[in-house]
Amino acid sequence: MFILISDAFSQDLPDRLIQFGEVSQDKDCLSKADVVLIRSKTKVTKEYIDSAPNLKLVIRGGVGLDNVDLEYAKEKGIIVRNTPAASSIAVAELAFTLMICLPNHVVIGHNSMQAGEWIKKELKRSELYGKTLGILGLGRIGVELAKRAAVFGMKVIAYDPFVSESENAEIIPQLTDVLNKADFVSMHMPLTDETEGIINQNLLHEFKDGAYLINTGRGKTIVEDDVVASLASGKLSGFGTDVWYSDPPVNSPLINAPNILMLPHIGASTKENLIRIGEIICSIISEFNQ
Ligand code: NAD
Repeated sequence: MFILISDAFSQDLPDRLIQFGEVSQDKDCLSKADVVLIRSKTKVTKEYIDSAPNLKLVIRGGVGLDNVDLEYAKEKGIIVRNTPAASSIAVAELAFTLMICLPNHVVIGHNSMQAGEWIKKELKRSELYGKTLGILGLGRIGVELAKRAAVFGMKVIAYDPFVSESENAEIIPQLTDVLNKADFVSMHMPLTDETEGIINQNLLHEFKDGAYLINTGRGKTIVEDDVVASLASGKLSGFGTDVWYSDPPVNSPLINAPNILMLPHIGASTKENLIRIGEIICSIISEFNQ
């Protein structure tokens, strides 16, 4: 079996995979690969699949499968697996990090100190305690975020068309009702035809004045220009994002927007998660090998 590691995984993964056959990180070896390991960078398009005549198994370390042409893979008899449970804590902790850093002006305060300024009077913080968090998409990551928010004394409400009850959040059937009530809105739904551009000008009007928006789901679920306009007008007090239209973003209007906190898609990139993902990949390949 020839295993191609096409994206960044834990450093010890090649050694762990050697028991299953030949392992390479050289992308030029795609034509020899029986198994390809990807994260979000490699795009398994029709052309990619056509360049890999031996390919039988694609493993996506992580959750989202929007970088894989699932239909074409199926047509070619290629099995596609992911490691959906591994990343939940890593991403929930990052969403929480953005949620706590924005109203506490952590980055602005730090940068002002480095610039030799003392802006104590200008920086007015606000607390998470007693505020309402609206979670869009109450799946694995949404639930982990809900648990953390509850410990901070937040009221947690959620919109998810496929979840009718939860012990971690009050489920609200209408999306606009969540947006009307939430001081913080955190996005955790997959990118689908329904969710693409879901946070646009129309729905941004439904947000509470001065709410904060966090996106660690997928970049294309927001309309970037509309979010920038809401930040500029003060409708949104802040926007924290880990996800983009492309990695890295090209000419994104968000880069120079006010009150934004940006990260380079590192939601799943904890040391612990990469180890967990490696363990799951080994068990998938072992099962596939039998
Ligand atoms: P999940 O499948 O457990 O949860 C997604 C939830 O979204 C489900 O409960 C589903 O019912 C709900 N949903 C579907 N359509 C919806 C809609 N129109 N409106 C509201 N909710 C809707 O997935 P998860 O493990 O919680 O991951 C969620 C997303 O996070 C993934 O799809 C992925 O895009 C993203 N993600 C990002 C990173 C990162 O590095 N930032 C890492 C992992 C996952």
